[in-house]
Amino acid sequence: MSFVPVNEPLLNGNEEKYLIECIRTGWISSEGPFIKQFEEQYAARVGRKYGVAVSNGSVALDAAVVALNIGPGDEVILPTFTIISCAAAVVRAGAVPVVVDCDPATWNMNIALVEERITPRTKAIMVVHIFGLPVDMDPLLELARKHGLKVIEDAAEMHGQTYRDKPCGSFGDISTFSFYPNKLITTGEGGMIVTDDPVLAEKCRSLRNLCFIPEQRFIHDELGWNLRMSNLQAALGVAQLERLDEFVKIKRRMGARYMELLSNAPGIQLPVAHTDYADNIYWVYGMVLDDDVPFDAKEAMARLGKLDVGTRPFFWPMHEQPVFRKMNLFADESHPVSERIARRGFYIPSGMALSDDQIQRSAAAVMEILR
Ligand SMILES: *Cc1c(COP(=O)(O)O)cnc(C)c1O
Repeated sequence: MSFVPVNEPLLNGNEEKYLIECIRTGWISSEGPFIKQFEEQYAARVGRKYGVAVSNGSVALDAAVVALNIGPGDEVILPTFTIISCAAAVVRAGAVPVVVDCDPATWNMNIALVEERITPRTKAIMVVHIFGLPVDMDPLLELARKHGLKVIEDAAEMHGQTYRDKPCGSFGDISTFSFYPNKLITTGEGGMIVTDDPVLAEKCRSLRNLCFIPEQRFIHDELGWNLRMSNLQAALGVAQLERLDEFVKIKRRMGARYMELLSNAPGIQLPVAHTDYADNIYWVYGMVLDDDVPFDAKEAMARLGKLDVGTRPFFWPMHEQPVFRKMNLFADESHPVSERIARRGFYIPSGMALSDDQIQRSAAAVMEILR
């Protein structure tokens, strides 16, 4: 039987039609009309005033941090259990990342640990919604308000998700998305910055385009980057966005099916399906091996691979990253929940194109290795 890939996107809507339109009209660069259309439609979808399309979700965070004037002398609080892009954006801006552990059930940043990490140097909290379930935003926003902190919301895994019926991506001073192919909607590579603040939006646009001064091209007051998205990517984005509601339904159906098939699996913790603020959209369907299972995630993934089922490990905590330890960051810090799930957690095939047969085979393989 063929291998079940961990992710495969669905590109069978208007993607081809819009791409052909780009080629026939010659509009392939970032100057093309799909950029503006994608920015406006995406911002509207998450209830924000401005959208700034960029080349990926990592640089969206870089621009967000710099746009908020975060730099040397500043601290940013973020989860240790996340992708390196989050901490990297803080470090590259010359600021200090301060990490907190995650909650053992939701795998999201443990809100109760945030306040004790706030110092006079804290400038912002970078919230990251993990794997399809949002962070509990109300207490976090309250904390940010109380201490006068900015909020950067990394919603890269949350297209179409809501927190108490408000779209994820609507909560940060700046919020960011990724359109990498394993995300709910994809542009191949791509990202989006959204905000309601016209000054921040303009700053992000400028940072995206080398900080050219509009009146005097090739003279620069500040250093930017080339973070531009191409019209080809935006064409894909517009086509994908048309199907976002359908994609969320597909993911929720996948998650419910896995829950059904794995509910009796011995020795494994499954994702949280519902909280009082959200229903999981299962960006990926993750699981964590109980401590009494005599092997770790690495071994489980090897065994599933032999059964033709694709997997990926969980994130590796920021405070255990060799690159940051070499910079003397996070010296002697321990965040046991993240350390544990990094070693015992992994996810199984969760892509948009997954068939019910593939779901059943993947679940059966998980049951098999746990027997
Ligand atoms: C995917 C992802 C990113 C990075 O996005 P890229 O487009 O791959 O650069 C950032 N943050 C989170 C939480 C992600 O899942």
